[in-house]
Amino acid sequence: MSLRLRLTLFFALVLAVSLLAFSALLYVMLDHALALDVDSSIASKAEDVARTSRIRGEYPLQPRRIRLPRIDAFAAPEIYIQLLDAEGAVVDRSANLGEHHLPLTDEALASGRQGQPWYDTIALDGQPLRVYTAPLLVDDDVIGFIQVARSLSDNEQTLAHVQRLLLICDALVVGGAAAIGWVLARAGLRPLDRVVEAARAIGHSGQLDRRLDPPRRQDEVGRLVATFNEMLDRLEAMFNAQRRFVADASHELRTPLTTIRGNVDLLRRNPTLPPEDVQEALADIASEAERMSRLVTELLRLARADAGVGFAREPVRLDTVLRDVHRQVQRHKPETRVRLEAIAPALVLGSRDALQELLLILVDNGLKYTPPGGEVVLALHTADGWHRVSVSDTGVGIDPADLPHIFERFYRAPRARQQGGTGLGLAIARWLAEQHDGRITVESAPGKGSTFTVWLPVLDATVPAAVAPAPPIPQEELTPVP
Ligand code: ADP
Repeated sequence: MSLRLRLTLFFALVLAVSLLAFSALLYVMLDHALALDVDSSIASKAEDVARTSRIRGEYPLQPRRIRLPRIDAFAAPEIYIQLLDAEGAVVDRSANLGEHHLPLTDEALASGRQGQPWYDTIALDGQPLRVYTAPLLVDDDVIGFIQVARSLSDNEQTLAHVQRLLLICDALVVGGAAAIGWVLARAGLRPLDRVVEAARAIGHSGQLDRRLDPPRRQDEVGRLVATFNEMLDRLEAMFNAQRRFVADASHELRTPLTTIRGNVDLLRRNPTLPPEDVQEALADIASEAERMSRLVTELLRLARADAGVGFAREPVRLDTVLRDVHRQVQRHKPETRVRLEAIAPALVLGSRDALQELLLILVDNGLKYTPPGGEVVLALHTADGWHRVSVSDTGVGIDPADLPHIFERFYRAPRARQQGGTGLGLAIARWLAEQHDGRITVESAPGKGSTFTVWLPVLDATVPAAVAPAPPIPQEELTPVP
């Protein structure tokens, strides 16, 4: 069932139920008012008759009798009057009753004998009648009864008429409202149809650069279009990044492969090559193979990151990780000094291996881009809810123009190209920092050196990890990094 039909039916149903409830209330109130009117009219007629009745036998011991007024003077075509003595025998009745008697029910008799009037609804000759029976009292003695009846046919006809009228009106109003609702729903949903059409066209053609026409109004459909366009923006960006990534990765893999194949060809074609040249070719092959295997490992790491593969987190002593890294890297490049400075116990929530990997990337870069004789300094400071691990070197530094790009995948600053590298290290490092609710900032002066700082939220051992939110990074300490 279409949304349009469902909306129309729903509103028609709500309207129908409300109108029916309203009509039923109206009907019941009218019925009640008419019934009250009949009851009060026959009661007042009975009072009129009783007021004009005279009692015979005023003296003691003389049986008291009713002296009747001329009953027909009170009767009207639809009002019937009947007088009864104390035993319930009919004494007189209006001529319009013909051969009929108004029945005296047991309840009416019992109530009358106690001095109380009584109402009955009966059928006489197939005609509904409302009968009022009131006692005629003399000195608290019941000496007879007066009955006044009125036909209910008129009321029933009126009620039937009103009922028919209400039902017809309700049906017309509901039908009219449903028709208007149907037209309005179509007008309201037309922009949605256009969105569906456009989305389908984009889906079929795969043209992620296409966008839906910007909405004229900021209603629900307008917001849908805006959200859809935003989603397309993100999809397009992701798709382009993925395409660039694959292209860059293939390009990066092709370079070492070409070198390896060139050297293998050289060795094959020249069996008499001097041993030094053979050694050189083999060394080239080995270093390119090593570069390739590093590249493939890093590509795998990033692919896993893109696939959302995270790692289990637990409380980790950051200072211990830093000491381990310091111990390991000293062997990497003995001609550059690595110094550990300012270190105190520091607890973070994370993965020990991942943190080690993150710091190794930064320290290896520091070593790689620092000429022999330089120095790399590691330090750990804690302030304002953050542990800051800084890796400073006295190396080549980074040009301000390169600074915004160094965390991009495969980005390598021109002056760093002669160093072996893949351009993936910092991209991985940034992802690792973000996985720890932290980030990396960098300050650098070309020719003087660089300082990379990893910000990690302090884990308060007394607070459960799940409820300890990361504090905001002080803005003045941030270097803009994409
Ligand atoms: P690479 O494998 O090229 O080192 P990275 O992603 O680790 O890739 O670094 C990206 C670029 O950032 C490097 O090519 C280099 O230009 C620059 N860079 C990173 N660390 C340093 C540093 N300590 N000193 C100078 N330049 C650096």
